[in-house]
Amino acid sequence: MQPVDLIIFGASGDLSARKLFPALFQLDRAGLLPLDLRIAAIARDTIDLDQFLSGLRERMTGYMGDSAPTDKEWEKYARLISYIKADFSDPKDYQKMKDWLDDNRVSLFYLATPPSLFAPICDYLSQENCLTGDCRIVLEKPIGESLETSKVVNGTLAKYFDEASIYRIDHYLGKETVQNLLALRFANRFINSQWDQSCIDHVQITVAEVVGIEGRWSYYDKVGQLRDMVQNHLMQLLCLVAMEPPNSLEAESIRDEKVKIVKALRCIDASNVDEHVVRGQYAQGWSLGNPAPGYTEEPGSERDTSDTETFVAIKAHVDNWRWSGVPFYLRTGKRMAEKVTEIIIQYKELPHNIFGGGANLPNKLIIRLQPNEGIEMTMVSKRQSLKEKLALQTHTLNLDFRDGSDDDRIPDAYERLFLDAINGDQSLFVGREEIEESWRWCDGLLRACQDQGVSVKPYHAGSWGPAKAEILIEKDGRSWHV
Ligand code: NDP
Repeated sequence: MQPVDLIIFGASGDLSARKLFPALFQLDRAGLLPLDLRIAAIARDTIDLDQFLSGLRERMTGYMGDSAPTDKEWEKYARLISYIKADFSDPKDYQKMKDWLDDNRVSLFYLATPPSLFAPICDYLSQENCLTGDCRIVLEKPIGESLETSKVVNGTLAKYFDEASIYRIDHYLGKETVQNLLALRFANRFINSQWDQSCIDHVQITVAEVVGIEGRWSYYDKVGQLRDMVQNHLMQLLCLVAMEPPNSLEAESIRDEKVKIVKALRCIDASNVDEHVVRGQYAQGWSLGNPAPGYTEEPGSERDTSDTETFVAIKAHVDNWRWSGVPFYLRTGKRMAEKVTEIIIQYKELPHNIFGGGANLPNKLIIRLQPNEGIEMTMVSKRQSLKEKLALQTHTLNLDFRDGSDDDRIPDAYERLFLDAINGDQSLFVGREEIEESWRWCDGLLRACQDQGVSVKPYHAGSWGPAKAEILIEKDGRSWHV
């Protein structure tokens, strides 16, 4: 394999310090980085390498706590890193990158920058002859803010990179639990054979955050929770739950199956938006025991009123044979009661209850991404008792990922994603068609909300969203898991 150079644009940013450099460090600590890897940290601060490294170490230590590098580990890791001072809007600065790059090595460009810079960076890299060797590009969401704008971003990327060299990150795909969902579904016959409308009553996907919009008011107010979270993270989780078995773990096979699901999502339009979508916006309340402001009272707020949703609940349907009649309830919001990301697979009740009473307790599979990553299955068994002949109780089978592992730590998603990008494996990255089809569905839903005047309903900060979100599921005789 050719040696790899990793070039991180935006090396002074939040993502770099919180996720990218710690992930690379953990890989180095575990001996998983290629020995000949070189890392160029690019930022516009006028500092030298030593200043960059000492600032980086301090920030990483703040985020990593007990697992922060020791002096010896840091010395080894720091040797991989070079610092290049460059303004990404200034074509002249790309010469410094050109001087550092080596055509005999793979160049992996990682854009941890504001999305508005994706296109200019690609243009300048090409214009200044930095794309002459084997090049790959890695970038984060958001890829556009609509179908139209995502096509523009993808179109720019396609001018300089073929699809096999573009690594679009949805970091949820790098999470251990999400990869375990694939193993659970496709390596266990009994799960696989019970994975359809004959056995499953409904699916819930919840991504709840405790935080508000964290100083991003002017950005967020133009975007809202649907574009920020549903189009990417919730859509990816839905696809992994709903897709047919791919014929291999090759990126193409997985992407093909995911795209089929996005295309099979029933359109939410003016005729059905009222029964399928609830939008909410947090008002004053309490968050983790402290008073919390409403959305329009947040620091940086530019208006007294806004129709941007900080919460959305959707009842979606995948119109295919496997999922006919099985609703997928999606819910995501800011300033919610707890930080939770989980998928619930709710099985159907058995057709006839021989135990009497209210003992028909259907199984539930809980796939939890946070907190406490893991997978649990609720099972029904007999309670041991001589007084009661056959009383039932629910037990939880717990799949602890650390069992049988030589590592006590669950790796961060970025560790897996870096390894795969370095090794040229795209299976956990998102393809162009998935992104664009997902935008097509979201755009239609947003248009329907606008046309039908589906306005935001207030909910108290620290709650589970507006009452209408409870009604959305309860009118079907079901309830949210939390
Ligand atoms: P930040 O704003 O913290 O970092 C952006 C970086 O880009 C900074 O280092 C900034 O430098 C640099 N930059 C901006 N303009 C220029 C320029 N003209 N020349 C040189 N450097 C420049 O953003 P984040 O780290 O939070 O996010 C980076 C990307 O990752 C975004 O696309 C974001 O959407 C995405 N993302 C981030 C997540 C996160 O957890 N942070 C999660 C998911 C996605 P300077 O400090 O000098 O301004």
